Amino acid sequence: KGAPPDDQQLTQALAEAPDVEAQMVKLVGLRELSEAERQLRGLVVMLMQEVFTEFFPGCVIRPFGSSTNGFGVHGCDLDLFLDMGSLEGPQRDPKAPASPALDSALASPLDPQALASTPASPVDSQAPASPQDSETPTSSLAPLTPDSALASEALASPQSLPPVSPIQEELREKDLGEAWELVGALKGEEGEGEAMLELVGSVLRGCVPGVHSVRTVPSARRPVVKFCHRPSGLHGDISLSNRLALYNSRFLNFCCELDRRVRPLVYTLRRWAQGRGLTGSGPLLSNYALTLLVIYFLQTRDPPVLPPLTKLTQMAGEEEQVEVDGWDCSFPQEVSCLEPSTNTEPLDALLAQFFACVSSWELQGSLLSLREGRPLPIAEGLPPGLWGGLRVGPLNVQDPFDLSHNVAANVTSRVAGRLQNCCRDSANYCRSLQFQRRSPRGRDWGLLPLLQPSSANSLLSVTPIPLPLAPFSQLCAAITQVLEEMLGCQVEQSSKRPRPEGDGEERPQGGPSKRLRLEREEERKGSLQDQATEGRQDGAAVEEMMLAADGREDQPSATGDVGQLGEQPQRLWQHVIERKEKELENPGTEEMETAQGGEEAGPGMTPTWLCALWHRVWLGRRRLRRQLQQQAKGEISWLQAEARVTQELIAQESKKQGKEAEPPPPLLTFTASVSPSGQFFTLTQLQDPQGLFPDLHHFLQGFLPRTLRGILGCEKGD
Ligand code: ATP
Ligand code: MG
Repeated sequence: KGAPPDDQQLTQALAEAPDVEAQMVKLVGLRELSEAERQLRGLVVMLMQEVFTEFFPGCVIRPFGSSTNGFGVHGCDLDLFLDMGSLEGPQRDPKAPASPALDSALASPLDPQALASTPASPVDSQAPASPQDSETPTSSLAPLTPDSALASEALASPQSLPPVSPIQEELREKDLGEAWELVGALKGEEGEGEAMLELVGSVLRGCVPGVHSVRTVPSARRPVVKFCHRPSGLHGDISLSNRLALYNSRFLNFCCELDRRVRPLVYTLRRWAQGRGLTGSGPLLSNYALTLLVIYFLQTRDPPVLPPLTKLTQMAGEEEQVEVDGWDCSFPQEVSCLEPSTNTEPLDALLAQFFACVSSWELQGSLLSLREGRPLPIAEGLPPGLWGGLRVGPLNVQDPFDLSHNVAANVTSRVAGRLQNCCRDSANYCRSLQFQRRSPRGRDWGLLPLLQPSSANSLLSVTPIPLPLAPFSQLCAAITQVLEEMLGCQVEQSSKRPRPEGDGEERPQGGPSKRLRLEREEERKGSLQDQATEGRQDGAAVEEMMLAADGREDQPSATGDVGQLGEQPQRLWQHVIERKEKELENPGTEEMETAQGGEEAGPGMTPTWLCALWHRVWLGRRRLRRQLQQQAKGEISWLQAEARVTQELIAQESKKQGKEAEPPPPLLTFTASVSPSGQFFTLTQLQDPQGLFPDLHHFLQGFLPRTLRGILGCEKGD
């Protein structure tokens, strides 16, 4: 088997399935981790294990999350827990000569054959390092076999590993030594955790061949070190204090084994939510939170598809009793002791019900409890004396083990509202014939409109960003400036359709027409106007990419409204989009009120920017900006500071990555467009292997209007 299927192949395969149930099952088959991918993950874990053992003898690297919970997809991140058990910090004197194993780790890629011929998987083969070990769940990563061509190739390929010069080696040792001393100095002190994280970062950076882009995130609820591993193409996190995650991952995997409908349903809904910008970081649901929501939904069917966790806890045997951080994590190892569910509803019915239920649930005021398998009323506050610290918000999903944790505590009312809106739209769509019957004419049917992140879908799902009032061409030039200078994007401009006739350059509202502070303004203005009046005129490749992102333009899809539209002309579809665009976000918010101003729906989105982004320029901005502004002692304008922050972030990241023979592929490609009225900005992801689009979108929601106002001189940027 070759590479994982791309979106087009996936779409085609699903279109050919006989019914929705078959589509859902097929989706799992096409998206799940292959045997070779699991082995590759096993090898990377083993590589890490070998290196970290040098520093922390007896430690165990334990994978969790999507590598083990039954919901992994091609390229999903590798979540790791560095289990020190009862070990105390570093064991090796950093100044002592490194062991032979460490030497070879520093100097050359490890021999994959030697790695692969180790008898068992890294997880299963570990000698217990601590008393907790006997309680630790086994990983569902496949045992390693030496014949994984993919894995061996990926790890062995000499050209894919950066050469290690003696100077680099020295640097690594120096960094490590410093990190080491810091941990020693801070023993038992407040900063020890962070120093330890830095040390782990230094070990990763300096001693694990092929690892790059190492970054510590000490401020997270569970601090982690992020990394990429070039030979395998994997990226992931290492955390130091997350034993509960091993159990919640095993619990999810247990649910998969309990009922065969769990995986197709979760795979479908994860993809659906991703396409609608509902999952990600910031105020969005994590995949974990979404998965718990689906499991809760299955627990609350009549009859239930899955039992409440209390029932499972009661069934745990003597040797399955586990407590982690004071929370009961006991449940049986084997599913065989449970009776299968008497609920026999088909997958398509469950999917439609999920949408209908979530859209109608009273989310605020109840805590969805997976332990009880029912909602607990919390409108009057939490039960006295229970779960101190649980943060109540617009969406409350209780962690199945850490009962004081709301896994959706980060979700804002805007996102919770959008989740319910999207569910309502999708529930409507599920009532249409387009969902229920395979199209004889090759139209998208069944799952397809729910899964495609087409621009139509994104328009419906991803919040359009309101733009400040300004003459159209100035607005466009300013947007280009933000994309290029403030985000560091490579940008190609296009215009998908001619601007409507009679829609003059200046908007009726006028708006401030101060000159743009922009060198290239005149040039850009010219080119934008040309494009705006002459329609499509750039490379076929760009156009093709955009069409691919749009799905097929002539076919409306994705909501109940659209289902009813049938074969109506495109214009009507555009009306639906425009209307949705307005409905989507809480009509009460300030920006939307001014946006309602009786504008007619235009014939399309224009102009459009095709953007490639290489850096996560939204991370760590605030701190850097503060530093810069302090250094400059107020001599620097807000806009200059923003541009400098971006340059600095890019420089920092590039420095960490070192000199590349070949530039890496972009992190994310997307299209950006302005509505014909110039009031809204819409983003559509094209390629987003790391699922960063929601983060970018969230960042731009605040950053773009503010920065544009700064550039256009409407008002002060901050
Ligand atoms: P993905 O493919 O997105 O990585 P995943 O199955 O690994 O999917 P994540 O959301 O990354 O899901 O979660 C991995 C682990 O991180 C979970 O098992 C859980 O322990 C922890 N986690 C994630 N989100 C939360 C949250 N909101 N609250 C508590 N723990 C979380
Ligand atoms: Mg994960």
